[in-house]
Amino acid sequence: MSTATIMSVCNNDCSDCCDGTSDKSENCRKITTTVLEPCVPLPLSDEVLDDILPKAKDYALLHGAGMRYKASYDQDTLQMAPFFLLPSAFPRREFERVVKLQPLINVLMHKIAHNHEFLENCLKKTVKVDDFTGRLWKIYTTVREEGMAQELSLGLVRSDVMLTKCHAGCCKLCETPPYVSCHQVEVNTIASGFGHMGPISGSINRYVLGELRRPDLLPHLPENNALSGLCSGMVLAWEAYKCPKSVILFVIEDVTYNICDQRFHEFEIRRQRPELHVIRRNLTQISQTGQLTDDKRLIIDGDEVAVVYFRAGYEPGHYHSEAEWEARLTIERSRAIKSPSIQCHLAGTKKVQQEIARPGILKKFLPDSEAELVSNLFTGLYTLDLGAEGDAAIRMATEDPERFVLKPQREGGGNNFYGDEIRTVLEKMKDSSEREAYILMDRIRPPVQHNYLVRPHESVKLVEVVSELGIFGVVLGTDKEITINTYSGHMLRTKPSSVNEGGVAAGLGALDSVFLFD
Ligand code: ADP
Ligand code: MG
Repeated sequence: MSTATIMSVCNNDCSDCCDGTSDKSENCRKITTTVLEPCVPLPLSDEVLDDILPKAKDYALLHGAGMRYKASYDQDTLQMAPFFLLPSAFPRREFERVVKLQPLINVLMHKIAHNHEFLENCLKKTVKVDDFTGRLWKIYTTVREEGMAQELSLGLVRSDVMLTKCHAGCCKLCETPPYVSCHQVEVNTIASGFGHMGPISGSINRYVLGELRRPDLLPHLPENNALSGLCSGMVLAWEAYKCPKSVILFVIEDVTYNICDQRFHEFEIRRQRPELHVIRRNLTQISQTGQLTDDKRLIIDGDEVAVVYFRAGYEPGHYHSEAEWEARLTIERSRAIKSPSIQCHLAGTKKVQQEIARPGILKKFLPDSEAELVSNLFTGLYTLDLGAEGDAAIRMATEDPERFVLKPQREGGGNNFYGDEIRTVLEKMKDSSEREAYILMDRIRPPVQHNYLVRPHESVKLVEVVSELGIFGVVLGTDKEITINTYSGHMLRTKPSSVNEGGVAAGLGALDSVFLFD
């Protein structure tokens, strides 16, 4: 039986310094690539591929692994979303570790969102130089000064991690099998997508393994209830609002390409509560028809809104004019339960992530033992604020940009800088406060493996890939009390190892699922 295993390959032909399981020198650490073995022997024969591909594509399309066409949007047509034919190997120890940590991440993000002093200290410089974060901050302070109309806040968060062999002294986890550990890329607090696509990718891969006559491998694919878990969060928030006729509002982009990942949420909510309605509006429409009653109920076209679920509003392009900003303010002023509330949105900024990673900060929010467990997830994060600390980070990044990622306060993929670009960008702004809109992060080098990339209208390709695992969590509570706190499923996105970022919607990455190995 073939099951995934892990091995380290020394790229520099220096086998005397690397025994394949641990790094013995600093030099070796830089040149070692960790390779994960696939779940079945590769390559598959042409006959097998010819047989399996049409079935897998139909399975994907017929189960809603689809997207709208980007080139020519047509609301009557769906295209298959890109996916990997086989599930990707992922060490069980690390999967189970991050699943167990998710409730702690939920609490952490919730508490940070409700700690005004901490948020202000983290963001006070950023909001002066980054217009977008500045506008969010203004909404936050406005509603805070007016008095928040709704105490409950619903977090539908996703913590994204990648495997890596960590530096010596980082944590003990890489000293024992599987010799890699999960490190956090970011925590998303707004529009954390793939609650449908995550589980459905697992179903595609299960089907493929079945067709390959390997049902023996199915127990390696963990259960994934992301869709029902996230929707339960919304339903529970709706119940907490205590108005049976009220609706859930999805705040959407003007054009939704990733439509399946939203519609299936609507269908699942309807399945859980047949009497509950979801309405969908973009911020422009909300600016035109949204109203607040004297007691701050949010009314859209006659419907009272109990829960607002933002699938848009996280990037400047979603706010075309002042009208959309007004709409966001109206929502935040209302007594609807927001996912996320403005404070929770701000807690998910990259700047806050960098500040949380400072020594001792986690202990302000979590008991010591839990803080230590969460801190093992962090990789190096560095401030670029004006001053000695920021100067040192800039020197470090300019000397060896390949070791870092430079990040602005943006969400949605495609905004970060890598390699030589980092040098160029830092050179330009190194003496100005503009740099305070960015953070610097250690670049995570995940293990590589091989998998078949299936894209619409392209022939299937066996490619070297790396994966990013997203762990969903649901947290509902006030600043005083958390009433719901759960791990709520997962998703795996995989991309060719040659690309820096691999958004599925952007076409570089693709849907995938985890194949656990011991
Ligand atoms: P966004 O909010 O745009 O999703 P992310 O921080 O998640 O921003 O970065 C986008 C992508 O860039 C990630 O999905 C990952 O592929 C890549 N990336 C981000 N940070 C790192 C890192 N520290 N090391 C390696 N890759 C990274
Ligand atoms: Mg991301």
